[in-house]
Amino acid sequence: MMELLDREIFRELYRGFAMPLSEIDCGLRCGPYNEYGVPVCCDIHLVIPSAFDLEWGFLKENTDLWQPWSCHGSVAQGLEEELQDGQVLLQCKGYQECQRDYRTLTCRAFPFYPYLDSKGFFPGLGYYPDFRDVCWIISNLEVVSQVYKEAFQRTFQRVFEFYPEYRSNFASYSNYLRAEASEKNEKIVLLGFSGNAYLVNPQTEQNYEVDYKELGAYGPFEISRELQFPAENRSLQDTEK
Ligand code: SF4
Ligand code: SF4
Repeated sequence: MMELLDREIFRELYRGFAMPLSEIDCGLRCGPYNEYGVPVCCDIHLVIPSAFDLEWGFLKENTDLWQPWSCHGSVAQGLEEELQDGQVLLQCKGYQECQRDYRTLTCRAFPFYPYLDSKGFFPGLGYYPDFRDVCWIISNLEVVSQVYKEAFQRTFQRVFEFYPEYRSNFASYSNYLRAEASEKNEKIVLLGFSGNAYLVNPQTEQNYEVDYKELGAYGPFEISRELQFPAENRSLQDTEK
């Protein structure tokens, strides 16, 4: 049974972080390229959602949407090993039965995680590089709304305030991604909370502002972004609203 305070905290976190990340329905952009035809982040074959252990307690009390993810063998073992401390892997009932009010924080945050520098400062949203080729948003970061970025900041600041151990977990994860980027000779892309985008040198942690147009596009979205003129982009947004 979870503590009353934790229950209230997660209720508040969910209320404050309920908006979509863009005015564009991005599931319509990535879904057609997914062999199962559903938005990539809702496809259990590609993304296994996780939740903070306390969050899982909250969800269990309030909805039948989720159950622990169960799988055996080397894939399962690998995922369990990669999982941050204090998190559990979950499986929802599927895209058609989504209950938006009970999406996990990782569902709401995808494809982003709170990036922390080595001093523990939280300057912005980083994205999970493993999903570059399948998540349309990563190739179109300029469409992420300011309202969403601010809610993301508020939400994770509250999480870190109430649960400092989760801050340490994301600090370790950011450190791991800096090491990985450094090995691949890549920069880390950050969305700052004021609306600007930055590239971070993973070795020195120095960052510089970059125009969204200079950021990379990946997989099947590389060509489509080149073909998409601003006017066309606007008319697509209008039809998807
Ligand atoms: S966040 Fe990425 S993976 Fe999820 S629906 Fe949008 S484009 Fe698809
Ligand atoms: S709960 Fe909803 S948003 Fe989260 S993975 Fe399931 S279908 Fe997708």
